Amino acid sequence: MSASNPTLAVLGFRRQIFYHLHFWAFIAVAPLVLVQWSQGHVLLATLLVLFCLNAILVVVFLRWRQTYLFKGRLFAILAAVCAVYSTAINGYAGLYWSYPAIAAIFFLLSLREASVSNVVFIAAMAGVSYARFDEADFWRIVFSLSLTGIFVMVFAWLVGRLQAELTRLATTDPLTGCLNRSQLADILNSKIQTRERYERVSSLILIDLDHFKKVNDRWGHVAGDRVLREAAIRLKRRLRDSDQLFRIGGEEFMVVLPETRQKDAESLAYQLLTTISAGPFQEDIQVTASAGVTEVIKGETWSTWLNRADQALYTAKARGRNRLVTVRGTLDEVPSTYDELAGAS
Ligand code: GH3
Ligand code: MG
Ligand code: MG
Repeated sequence: MSASNPTLAVLGFRRQIFYHLHFWAFIAVAPLVLVQWSQGHVLLATLLVLFCLNAILVVVFLRWRQTYLFKGRLFAILAAVCAVYSTAINGYAGLYWSYPAIAAIFFLLSLREASVSNVVFIAAMAGVSYARFDEADFWRIVFSLSLTGIFVMVFAWLVGRLQAELTRLATTDPLTGCLNRSQLADILNSKIQTRERYERVSSLILIDLDHFKKVNDRWGHVAGDRVLREAAIRLKRRLRDSDQLFRIGGEEFMVVLPETRQKDAESLAYQLLTTISAGPFQEDIQVTASAGVTEVIKGETWSTWLNRADQALYTAKARGRNRLVTVRGTLDEVPSTYDELAGAS
């Protein structure tokens, strides 16, 4: 797990919540097994043992397998069943446990699953409370449980939104909305693994706007920014949903094309260059771009793959810009395997 990957960082943060809630629930509930057993409540003691077993299994799987066992669902089911049954046989002593259970469920399940589970849970608690307590207490219990549910739901929803927004801010470039470099290594690595395991080939396109410094010098930085934004829109328009567009430098973009052979990547790259050079940007600014294209080779690392694309782009620049250069084979062979597809007009 790469600590610099914001998506994984958020995932790690969520896993920590799962881990700690299950761990502390185990610590809190384990003594209750003995208490209930000593009072002759064999069924409740058994249910609590199951709850503890699930909690400890989830902790073990999170710690050593990096997987979230049963997605927290067994916790929700067992916690709700134990709290309802304990309230039925122990009265208030059981009721008190339903409050932390409602809160925990919102942090362990998805918001939708947690909301549905807690509605059912609170309804069941209302049922036993009606049978067990007087009417005034029944209403107090229904309202306090519902309020707890609503408060925690709003809080869990806000935390979820915050996590999503932080991930978006950390992984995208604010000017163009393209992906930034933060996930670059992980995404390229995943394509390399697809190549190794399933023999499915992905390709990479690097695109750099030509003489962009001149655009800034002549029309100003703000106009330059507008061109970059519009260029990203033009590129996105040509791409499929599965393709990923990065802005990896000031005026340099990278497209990752999953399951795409070099030949297909070449023709797409050609279309991408055309979409940039075909029409003027605002204020009649004409821009061209150069590109380097290459497919992943079995056994290589993400950095040699990216390096090869970079060399191809460099060659396109050296040969006069507004063109696309593709490269096959290993980096050692680079000079002899360049293949120029579209010359400058
Ligand atoms: P080449 O054809 O060799 O790529 O020439 P170039 O001028 O595009 O390349 P160079 O790398 O020399 O300059 C890139 C310029 O891009 C420098 C900077 O003025 C401009 N640039 C980089 N980032 C931004 C940005 O965020 N906004 C704007 N407006 N300009 C940027
Ligand atoms: Mg440039
Ligand atoms: Mg550049």
